[in-house]
Parts: sequence; structure tokens; C-alpha cells
Amino acid sequence: MDPRPLRALTRIDVARLDGVGPKRVEALRSVGIETVFDLLTHYPRRYIDRTKEAQIRDLHVGEVASVLARVDRISSRPLGGRGRGRRVMVEAFVSDGSGRMKVTFFNQAWREKQLTPGTEAVFWGKIEDFRGTKQLTNPVVDLVGDQTGQVVPVYPQSEKARITTQDVRRWVAEALERLDGTGGLLDPVPEEVLDRLDLIERGEAMRLVHVPGDSVAAYEVARKRLIFDELLRLQLALVLRKRHLERTTVGVAHDRSGDLVRRFHDALPYPLTGAQRRVIAEIEADLSHPVPMHRLLQGDVGAGKTVVAVSAMLVAVQGGHQAALMAPTEVLAEQHALGIRELLADLRVGDEGALFDRPLRVELLTNRVPAGRRREITEGLAAGEVDIAIGTHALLSADVGFRSLGVVVIDEQHRFGVEQRAALRDKGAGGVPDVLVMTATPIPRTAAMTVYGDLDVSILDELPPGRTPIITTWARSEQEQAAVWEEVRREVADGRQAYVVCPLVEESEKLEVSSATETWQQLRAGELEGLRVGLLHGRVAPAEKEETMRLFREGRLDVLVATTVIEVGVDVPNATVMVILDADRFGIAQLHQLRGRVGRGAHRSSCHLLGEGATEDGERRLEALVRTTDGFELAEVDLDLRGEGTILGARQKGRNDLKLASLRDHREVVDVARQIAFELVDAPGGPPEDLVDEVRLFLDEDEEQFLFKS
Ligand code: ADP
Ligand code: MG
Repeated sequence: MDPRPLRALTRIDVARLDGVGPKRVEALRSVGIETVFDLLTHYPRRYIDRTKEAQIRDLHVGEVASVLARVDRISSRPLGGRGRGRRVMVEAFVSDGSGRMKVTFFNQAWREKQLTPGTEAVFWGKIEDFRGTKQLTNPVVDLVGDQTGQVVPVYPQSEKARITTQDVRRWVAEALERLDGTGGLLDPVPEEVLDRLDLIERGEAMRLVHVPGDSVAAYEVARKRLIFDELLRLQLALVLRKRHLERTTVGVAHDRSGDLVRRFHDALPYPLTGAQRRVIAEIEADLSHPVPMHRLLQGDVGAGKTVVAVSAMLVAVQGGHQAALMAPTEVLAEQHALGIRELLADLRVGDEGALFDRPLRVELLTNRVPAGRRREITEGLAAGEVDIAIGTHALLSADVGFRSLGVVVIDEQHRFGVEQRAALRDKGAGGVPDVLVMTATPIPRTAAMTVYGDLDVSILDELPPGRTPIITTWARSEQEQAAVWEEVRREVADGRQAYVVCPLVEESEKLEVSSATETWQQLRAGELEGLRVGLLHGRVAPAEKEETMRLFREGRLDVLVATTVIEVGVDVPNATVMVILDADRFGIAQLHQLRGRVGRGAHRSSCHLLGEGATEDGERRLEALVRTTDGFELAEVDLDLRGEGTILGARQKGRNDLKLASLRDHREVVDVARQIAFELVDAPGGPPEDLVDEVRLFLDEDEEQFLFKS
């Protein structure tokens, strides 16, 4: 018989295995195992290395060991504490001829029935000392006594479904045997690739991951292969999608013969950084191709993304098209409009020496623009007289039409929904506009490759020179906090300004607003008495908000007490102190963003994190912020702390394929898999059909429809 593809395994019900009767089918279903495919990809959670079994006598406290021992006696007793009355401790004494040891289980009442006196089992865990007796607490227990000298897999077991690791081991063995007897497992990855990456064959990997035999190395090579497969499938899906988009959409091939971009750069008061130059070149190359650009620009806070964005927009303008910049909030859009108008103030459209040139026209379009003015702007856009439109989602309204939209820049993309992005793309005339997505919340490169796998990524990894590093402290004690307020007063006395960020109340904006108002009142009456203190939060009326921002920008307020509305975009170089209250409530990325509001001018700046690190993770977050100002390093810490689930989140709609692989632990493999995916997809004959078929197994319906059925 021919080797079987994975898809075939998804069609074989586990009920067909001899060892699985009707009752077991129900139990398996309850833990998500319905087919032989599900069973074989129900991978061991860990392995007990019984080639290195120890005698109780030789065990040392602190080491992790596995011991084969006999249960001498076992008993249970309820633990104290009312209410949760079923908390139970089970204590067993076990021995192996060389010595005696205590084994304790918490909240595993069933162990008393499992480990009746006389039972032999392997106990695996970290040896502790309990008043002079060696002890294991909640060890892994393996009842099979005949696997001495083997590496034994331990499966995620389910007490509720009454599925033990031994059951799974048996069923898996049967499935593997049947598979072997009927042609084995198909390997869709070209041999040449496997050779190059030093990977073993798939059928072998599947066998060794479940039955590693007597060598620990065996499951490691097996896992290496299976991890690669998972990541390759993921990357193939993304690369296929990317190529599909490129094939099926027609973009604008921008004419780069004009000199507008060059004149813009020449007029800047500073030279571009090397990174800005490199990224602008990457973008310009994309823009001159007829394939629509879909590029993510990652750059730390203050790295100078605005100049890059403006350069991209000017490429469109110099070729006779228009550009749009979309920001997530009105405050941000206004800030961008102010800053960009200033940058472009002296720039005129029309080549040098043209007979009729005119000033570049930049317009701000938000929902707050009055109707009459709005009409003027939309007419200008439709006529092609407005070169650059800056706004919020208002740019997506039906009444906004562009004459020829060539480039779209989206700031802080994760706040925009996919549909909104699509709508903006649809506004292009004569081709899909090129899209540049900017984010100041870097995510690790390998994660970016996955989350934004169909985007190209540019990284602005160099800060403009002359920045004074921001000093960050974590003030926990009252004394330290008093010193922070003292510093705020000192800086204000020196003519500087400060921000105070109020505690985050995620559940309710209303609560957040009242807490911010309270903080503001308290500070004015207390620590910051006598200073000019403004308040900004989500429910301040627009006009008032604008007024407060203006006063702060003009230096007529000393301190701005605010919620996270100031998180992005606010740019006041004279502000040098950032105080964040209850800092451990914020995520790493948010704290980093907030900190980026200072250190924007020539003055030495500082950021103070107040409050306890309420949780261990909270503590690690704050410690990381104190340790480094490098956004990419922080992103790595963040990924470590939060795990990849949160980052992948939205993508995991189809069948979850990442069972062994982790974006966090296998970063280099992500890299390699992406590279191979490109190689295979771009090969003259296209990717191997069997491999594509396998990728389809893991796509959700929409994605499959999009890629294969249109
Ligand atoms: P980002 O949006 O990446 O956080 P901005 O574009 O707001 O950063 O730039 C931050 C500050 O750095 C701005 O005040 C800007 O004028 C300045 N800047 C940008 N590029 C350079 C450069 N090459 N040299 C010096 N200063 C620069
Ligand atoms: Mg910015």
C-alpha cells in the first residue's frame, strides 16, 4: 500500500482501534481525540528516563530522579480550611530494598485507590527533605513495571475522563503498528530539504516521539522533525497567502523620477539615520513595483518613523497620486497633522524649475471637522487637490473619495480591524494602494513573521543621535515615592514638565475616569500643591481636551495627569518626567509606550514606576523596564511572560497546529521554516502537492476559500 498522508489519518475514527471500546470513545472525545490523527498528535508531555533509575538510598535532596518502588502503606486525610471541604492530602510510604521514602499528593484523592499497598510504580520528581525523610510531592507516577531501561513517555492524562497515560501508550502503539503494516506515513517534505536541515523522516519521527526506546536522544531528534513540520505548515500558509495576494491584485507602480522626496530630505534639520535611509530605500523599491506593497514598519518609540512615513507618502505625491495617514485616535491624528504640516511647510509640488508649482496640501479629516469644512476637504480629495489626508477612521466614510490614492500609512495597526484596513485599500483608484503599517510596539521578529506573515517587515533599529537615555526607577516604598514627587517639583522649578499616568481600570472606563479625577484632586491638594496641573481622560469633551493639550504644549501647565489617552503620539520635548501610578497593572508594551513620551528633547529625562509588583509577573515586567529601554528586548521579555497564545490569538481560528512548536522556544526554526516555505512556494513547479494538501488541513474555512477556491 502507498504511504498515507496526514489527511487520511484524520478520516480514521479512533473507535476502529481494538483497544478502544464505545465507552472509551466518549472519554477520548471529551479530551478532543476523535481520529487516529488526533491520537498520534496527542504527544507525550514528558518522558521518564528509566535508563537512569536510582535507588532510594542514593538519592540526594534537590535532584530530579525516577525511582521504582513498592507502596508499603497509603492513607489520606482532609486538609484544614472550611468551605472548600474536599481538599485532601494523600500520603504514601514506598520502599525499594535500599531505603524508604515518603510520597505526598495534594488534591489527588484517587491516588489512594490507584496505589494500593503492594503496587509497584515509578515515581518521578524532585527529591525534597521532610524532617529527615526523603520525600516527593505530587510526582509523576507510572504504573508500568516492565519498562526498566527504557525512556517512557508520559501523556497528558485526564482524571475526569479516566484516561491514563498507560491507556494512551497502548492505543498509540496499536495505531503505529497498524500504520506500519499498511504502508506507513507519507513524508511530503522533499528529501533534499531534510538532508540539508539534518532532519529524520516523518514516519520515523512519529514512532520515536511515542516510543523512544532506550535513548533520550531519540525523542529529541523526533521532536526536532515534528516541530519543523508544524512551523513549516504555518509559514507555508502565510507565504501562499502572500503570493496569492500579490498575484491577484494590481497595484500602483509609482513613478520615481521626481525630486520631491529628495527635496524633503534636503530640507530636514538633521541627516537621516542609517536605519531610516535603509528602510526608506526598501519602501521605495516596493513602491516602484506594480505589486501592492504590504509592509510593516517596526520601530521603537522615538526612532523616527514619521519621517519614513512622510517619505513614503511623498513618493505617491511626486508621481501624481495622493496619500493618506490613518491614526487610531483623534488626538493622535491631530498630533500627526501638526507635526507633518510643520515638516512639509516649505515644500512645493512640481519639479524644481517647474513653471507652476504650488504648496503641498495636507488636510486633517476627523469626525470633529465641521460639516462645511469637511465638504471642502472631501471635494479637494476627489479633485486630487489635497495631496495628503490625515485622519482617523473617518477617512473610511462612504463620502470620502480620492482621485488617486497611491499610498496609505496606518499608524499603530493593531487598533485597526482587518475590515477597516480592507476598506481603505478599496479606496484606491486604478489599483490597490500601497500600504505601510507602522507600529511602535515591537514584537519579536519571529513572532512578527507569524502574526504578520503576509507582510514584509522593515525594522528601524537605530535611534537618532543625541538622545539622553531615560532613567527608569521603580519606587516601591513611601520614602522612594516621596522622592519621586520631590523630583517632579524640582524639574518644574527648572522649567520642565511632567506627566502622571493614573491607574489602569480595564473593566470600566467610568471607574477609570473617576479614579483619575480623584488622583488629580489629591495631587493638587497634596504632593503637587501650587503647581499648574491639568487633567485628561477618555470622557473629557473634545474641545476641552484640545485646550488642555494646547496649554501643556505651550508650557502653561506644569503637570498633566492623564489616563492612557496620552499613550501614543503626544510629543512635548520639554516634558522630562513620567510618573506611572500602579505601574504593575500595565503591560510591558504599554509601559514602554508611556515612557516614550519623555526623553524627546535635549534634557535628561526619567520615568518612575510606582506601586508594588502585585504579582510575580508584574514584578518581572517592572524589573525589565528598569533594566532596559530597548523595545525589542522588552518585546522578548513580554513574549516570555505572556506566552505566544496572546500574540497568536487571532490567527488560531483553524485547527491548532502548534502542538510541539513554540514561537518562543523555537525562534530559529521559525526562521528556517519561513525560508524553506519561500523556497518551496517559489520553486518552478510550485510547492509539493502533498505538502499543500497538508497545509489545507489546518486552515479555517475562510482562509481555505480565499487561497484555494477563488
Ligand atoms: P516615532 O514615531 O518613531 O516614535 P518620531 O517620528 O516621532 O518617532 O521622531 C521622534 C523625534 O525624533 C522627533 O522629534 C523627530 O523630529 C526626531 N528625529 C527623527 N529623525 C531624526 C534624525 N534622523 N535625526 C535627529 N532627530 C530625528
Ligand atoms: Mg510616532
